[in-house]
Amino acid sequence: MTVTIAHIRSHGVRQLLVYCRGRCEGDWPCHHEGTLQIERFSLTATLAEIEHRCRCTACGWRKADVRPDYSKPLPPRTSVGWMKPKRTRKKRDK
Ligand SMILES: [Zn+2]
Repeated sequence: MTVTIAHIRSHGVRQLLVYCRGRCEGDWPCHHEGTLQIERFSLTATLAEIEHRCRCTACGWRKADVRPDYSKPLPPRTSVGWMKPKRTRKKRDK
């Protein structure tokens, strides 16, 4: 199954989770993780391609485990910065 950026975008996913599967010194797994904004990639790019292109900044491992971040879909327009909470709050009477 080929998963493309266009496909996961259609599910509202805005970022990818990247988990390192490399090994650090000895037998300790690296488990370095990070996120990638999917806007950085073309719509036709596949997750498999991205996995091969990723490189762990901690251990240098070349093949990461890349997954769409379905867990916390971000609302649009948050890429610029944090959203400010609305000031006007309606107080609810009992
Ligand atoms: Zn690593």
